[in-house]
Amino acid sequence: MNVRSQPGLTFDDVLLVPQRSHIRSRANVDISTLLVPGIKLAIPVISSNMDTVTESEMAIAMAHAGGLGIIHRFLPIEEQAEEVRKVKRSESFVVENPITIQPDDDIAEAKEIMSRSDIGGLVVTDKDGHLLGVVTSRDLLLAPEGSLQVGEVMTPRSEVVVASTQEPIKDARKTLHKHRIEKLPLVDEQDIVQGLITAQDIVKLQKHPQATKDDKGQLIVGVAVGVRSEDHHRAQACIEAGADVLVVDVAHGHADHTIEMVKSLKKRHAIPVIAGNVATAAGVRDLVEAGADAVKVGVGAGSICITRVVTGFGVPQLTAIADCAEEAQKLGVPIIADGGIRKSGDISKAIAAGASTVMLGSLLAGTDESPGATVIRDGQQQKVVRGMASLSANVDRKTMDPDNEEEEIDYGEVVPEGVEAVVPYRGSAADILHQLLGGLRSGMSYAGADNIPSFWEKAEFIQITPAGKQESGVHDVDVL
Ligand code: 5GP
Repeated sequence: MNVRSQPGLTFDDVLLVPQRSHIRSRANVDISTLLVPGIKLAIPVISSNMDTVTESEMAIAMAHAGGLGIIHRFLPIEEQAEEVRKVKRSESFVVENPITIQPDDDIAEAKEIMSRSDIGGLVVTDKDGHLLGVVTSRDLLLAPEGSLQVGEVMTPRSEVVVASTQEPIKDARKTLHKHRIEKLPLVDEQDIVQGLITAQDIVKLQKHPQATKDDKGQLIVGVAVGVRSEDHHRAQACIEAGADVLVVDVAHGHADHTIEMVKSLKKRHAIPVIAGNVATAAGVRDLVEAGADAVKVGVGAGSICITRVVTGFGVPQLTAIADCAEEAQKLGVPIIADGGIRKSGDISKAIAAGASTVMLGSLLAGTDESPGATVIRDGQQQKVVRGMASLSANVDRKTMDPDNEEEEIDYGEVVPEGVEAVVPYRGSAADILHQLLGGLRSGMSYAGADNIPSFWEKAEFIQITPAGKQESGVHDVDVL
């Protein structure tokens, strides 16, 4: 029998030892991080690809906060791609297909389109899309009596200020301000309209200054895929819909089929691929060799997970993170600590142990943005969270599977590795994140760490006893 000499540790087995600190305010701590080389997040948190945690609404909230959401894969391919589109459409510097009208169209038609679409102006083009002018509701209101066609009242091309696809989109804000205008058609070298930049959209973007965005100003979003052949279609459809990152998500990710899938996705697509889950340095090495741009760590640590009970396998999460991070650092790849995080102190410990980001499941399942309804139980508002390997998730998956020709689902055949549960309703994801990240910032100030790489360097753990654990919580008082 082969038994490791060091015990496996998890969050409650350790504390971080306070260090001399030069940090005067936790607001000065930089918690930005790399999700994968090339994608920077303002906060080191992503939401789990679980059907009770992340669809478009959560992905939008996470990206607004500076993190990222991974849309789960337990829905038909087209629906998953549509969730991606919803995130990508939610905001942008550029309206990609602005509504256009032609100069010989009736003014009445322009008015009707503007009121139906609730917009204040239209781009006027010829049949090939060349810019001929702009018509706004003000032009229509003040139209000289007797004018019938759009061409008679529009601002003509010679007077329209435009943005060019040849210039950086970011300059558009200055142009809008300089000319005190609200709309800027975006044209290419042939003067064909490629989009519309509006002051209103730019104001919307400023509401979330930390948001995780691509270079078009659209929010960034990830999608989970499995390892079956249909998952290639899933990846393709989601990438066409605008997905920025793929996550090959398998309970036991250190497996030949995951490695093959990562290799094949990296060969076919240009976007980053995260792979997991693993709990050992060897797992990290094999996935990175296959091409993974980041590795997700955690086997059996999740709140709704019973893998360790059912199979006897797993590595306590803090040891898994530390072992994997040591290997990943040599390979220049970030680690995502996935599962088992219950409070902000656990985030501090996971990051201190070497993770670049943490993935949260049940902590976010109780928020407004998670899919699913709020239920009242014992007079308390609660939301459902379920393991993706739970009995009900297995049954739903078989029902959804187009290849499943079984008339009846054999419940006896399913061996669940997750449970279905409820969590307290927790309000908005932004509020929860604010609390959790406040704890992380304070934690980093206790280590004297200005940023995450310095936290990795300075962190020192101390193993504690059950008495130490008891002392660490509230004790010997009746909490009000
Ligand atoms: P939590 O943040 O709730 O503690 O953990 C969430 C993580 O648990 C997910 O991101 C995923 O890696 C893992 N997970 C989700 N569903 C299941 C399941 O049914 N079984 C197992 N073993 N892990 C699960």
